[in-house]
Formats: sequence, C-alpha cells, structure tokens
Amino acid sequence: MSVLVVGSIAFDTIETPNGRRDGAIGGSATYFAYAASHFTRVRCVSVVGEDFPVAAMDALRERGVDLEGVEVVRGGKTFRWSGRYLADMNTRETLDTQLNTFGSFKPKVPTGFRSTPFLFLANGGPDTQASVLDQVEKPAFVVADTMNLWIDIQRKELLDLLRRVDGIILNDEEARMLSGDRNLIAAGEKVLRMGPRVVLLKKGEHGCFLFSHFVKFALPAYPTPNVVDPTGAGDSFAGGFMGYLASTGNVTLGNMKRAMAYGTVTASINVEDFSVDALQRCERSEVERRYAEFIQFVTL
Ligand code: AMP
Repeated sequence: MSVLVVGSIAFDTIETPNGRRDGAIGGSATYFAYAASHFTRVRCVSVVGEDFPVAAMDALRERGVDLEGVEVVRGGKTFRWSGRYLADMNTRETLDTQLNTFGSFKPKVPTGFRSTPFLFLANGGPDTQASVLDQVEKPAFVVADTMNLWIDIQRKELLDLLRRVDGIILNDEEARMLSGDRNLIAAGEKVLRMGPRVVLLKKGEHGCFLFSHFVKFALPAYPTPNVVDPTGAGDSFAGGFMGYLASTGNVTLGNMKRAMAYGTVTASINVEDFSVDALQRCERSEVERRYAEFIQFVTL
C-alpha cells in the first residue's frame, strides 16, 4: 500500500561541528519521502518556488515518489531554513526561517491521492493538517507531527486534530509542553487520553517510546558513532515507521513495534551525512542489514 505525506520541501543551511552545508535539499516531506521510499510507493503534497531544481524533483521521482501534489509557484521562492547544532549534536538553534511560498501553503490533495490508505501529516499548522483530513477518504492510519510553536499558538486546533488522528509523534520537550507534565511517562499517557490510539515519543540519541492503551514499548537509538547531521532524524524515523506499516498493510501493535525498529534504523542512516545524501544513496539491503543487527542489539 502507498503512503501520502503532506509537508515542507526546503533549502536548508546547516552548521554542525563537522562542517556546513548551504542551501541543501531539505524539508520534512523530503526526508519522510526518501525514508519511506525504501519500503513502499510515496505520494507527496507540498509547495516549492520556481527556484527549486528540476534535478532534485527527478531524484525523488527516481525513488518512486509521486510529486503530482507538489505545486510549483511561478515566480515564487522555496521555503528556506537554517540551523546550527551545538557540540553535543542534540541541541539545535534555528538561525533563520524564510517561509516564502510555504507561508501561504494550502495543501490540495490531488483526486488520485485521496484514497491513499496511509497518511503522514508532517510538521505544520494543525489547521492546515486538518484541512488535509477534510480532503481524504478515511485513510486506514493517520499520523501527525507537530512542534512547540503550534502547541503554543494553536493549542485548541491541535487538541481538535488529536481526536482525528491515529497517532502523534512528539519529542520529549513537545510532550512535556503539550501535557504540562515533566515526567515523560505521565506526559505520554496524558497525550494518549487526548485522543490518538498511539503516541510516539522521540528522545533523540536515547531512542523512542510508544504509548497505547494496551502496550507500552521502548527502543534505544541504533548505536552509530558517526553522527554528521541530525537534521531530519524525526522525519526519517516517521518515514521508516509509516513506510514499513504501509508496505505490510498491518497496523497491529506488534507490527508497530517492528515499524519502530525500521524507523530507528532509517533515522540512523539519515544522520550519517548532510541533507538527504545518505538516505538517497542507501540500498534496501543496508536497511535490512541494520535491522537484523539492531534486533540482536535489543534482544536479551
Ligand atoms: P527535523 O530535524 O526532523 O525536525 O526536520 C528538519 C526539517 O524540517 C528541515 O529540513 C527543515 O527544512 C524543516 N523545517 C524546519 N522548520 C519547519 C517548519 N516550521 N515547518 C515545516 N518544516 C520545517
């Protein structure tokens, strides 16, 4: 089965202790699409300006990503984001955000995409995310991402959205902010009571946690010593998770555990180079090799 992603396509400028990249290909939908493309066919709804390279679009198409839903705004400029990582590679400062065409993004889901069974609402305003739900036909499984900005300025819209999705992905800081609870376990359980079937908590280099009404489950991060650029780790985790679920068409909690492991190894590949470079050149066989190694790593 295929998966639909709605989110940003961007030019990123990234500084890490390992170096700097200017105007690299980024965006939440881009990272998600590359990650999920290792498992299944991906459909994308986004917006770019006329400055976005045709070659970058072609590279996504080569990975089986259908870009029919990507609007190219004539004379417009693509979203630009710039960030810097401190020496620990976990703390990130946003240096600049130029929304450009993404600022007035009103997602239009093409008719042929409306019955896609798996849907990922990448980071965006909850009102915009809800407008996507209004256009699609009862997907089997919908997961949304969010960020502290929306928890702060569109809290009511986010709470409404939580009642309409199957899953929400949050990092530890966002979970604490949304729930008002410092304890992460209490925070996860509180968010679960806000509506979704599952809450996925990302804890950066410390791994991820799944909360459901029936099962709690945790995984460490894949142990890579080679972290070059953590940008897109969250979106590539989501891409591996949703891509695997869509490829199997199975949304039982047992399968979600396997999907978390696939999300974890996909994110580990992504952080080993700048931009989407590592995800782009990696083969499915490398994903499977890491998966097998990771299962050994977490099994008693
Ligand atoms: P992550 O590291 O998983 O948080 O994702 C980073 C990606 O998100 C970068 O490639 C950015 O271009 C993109 N991004 C940053 N800020 C936003 C935003 N406000 N809305 C949508 N995408 C964003």
